[in-house]
Amino acid sequence: MSEVCVLCGKTLSRFGNKKLKDGILCRNCVKLASPWLNDDDYLARDAEGMKKHLQYREDNKEVLKNFNEERKVEGKYTLYLDEDSRQFVISKRKDFRKDNADVLSYDEIDELSIFEEKYMDEEGMVNLLMDIKLHNPEIDNICFRVSDFPGMERDSSEYKETLDLAFKYLNAFDGEKGIDFEQTEGEKHE
Ligand SMILES: [Zn+2]
Repeated sequence: MSEVCVLCGKTLSRFGNKKLKDGILCRNCVKLASPWLNDDDYLARDAEGMKKHLQYREDNKEVLKNFNEERKVEGKYTLYLDEDSRQFVISKRKDFRKDNADVLSYDEIDELSIFEEKYMDEEGMVNLLMDIKLHNPEIDNICFRVSDFPGMERDSSEYKETLDLAFKYLNAFDGEKGIDFEQTEGEKHE
């Protein structure tokens, strides 16, 4: 007897499923969810909460239609800002609408940080991460690697360029009230 997805009822494939509080979500339903959910976010939700999340994702497509990308900071992840509506999206795809990138509000940002983490266990190799803490009903944290490829040396020009880019993301929100900035030295994940 094979297990089925708690939402769509289809038979689970071997990979790409996510564990929820009260069942398992299939790969296809996972693809509809926000890319910013991590394993803990899935585990914290039950089937009902996940259904609500996927409805939010459907509604987001409509919200995106009114989003005007007035300004952007380009990188592996591109940040688009709509100054008038004080909203932003972050997408790693070329077409953020097709990506159904989550539309978030400046006012939902609690904290913006740049973190450094060790890359594997290689001496002197690090990653720079951008971290955005939010109080949004569906997404409470956005965290992504700023450089195109994982691992770089601290005193390389790549590191300097990556740090510059991280500050461009950060500075895009500079002057917005209620947002805290923090640059943390050292490792986050240890
Ligand atoms: Zn499913």
